[in-house]
Amino acid sequence: MIIVLGILITIAILLIMKPWERRACRWRQDSRKLADGRVLFTCVACGAEEAVPKGREPTTCRAGEA
Ligand SMILES: [Zn+2]
Repeated sequence: MIIVLGILITIAILLIMKPWERRACRWRQDSRKLADGRVLFTCVACGAEEAVPKGREPTTCRAGEA
């Protein structure tokens, strides 16, 4: 029973912390590529690209999603 409880706690921690979304993403604004008012950010760590509305910054890593 203690083992089951431990597994449940581990799953709960994983769901709350979401370690897979906390990879070291270093977003850099790509000023050369501007499209329809949005700003393109490029991740230096994994090479992911994300266009976000002006004034915002991507927070999560997009590695492995595409
Ligand atoms: Zn990244």
